[in-house]
Amino acid sequence: MTLTAVIDWDKCEGNGICARVAGEIFTVDAEGNSDVILHEIPDALRTKAMLAMRQCPTKAITVSEA
Ligand code: SF4
Repeated sequence: MTLTAVIDWDKCEGNGICARVAGEIFTVDAEGNSDVILHEIPDALRTKAMLAMRQCPTKAITVSEA
């Protein structure tokens, strides 16, 4: 089982919260384009990944085991 994060770009408003909460996993550039930069999230970053998912105001982030 691998923990992965996915961003729904239709919902993302590019505010950069995820990158501030979990910069190891998410990036958001100056134009507000977000991306997942760590595709297999290790256990040590699980809490941060979940926090970013909860703090995303548009619910654009899904973190799940795949
Ligand atoms: S926190 Fe959510 S809305 Fe903000 S940049 Fe990240 S994915 Fe997009």
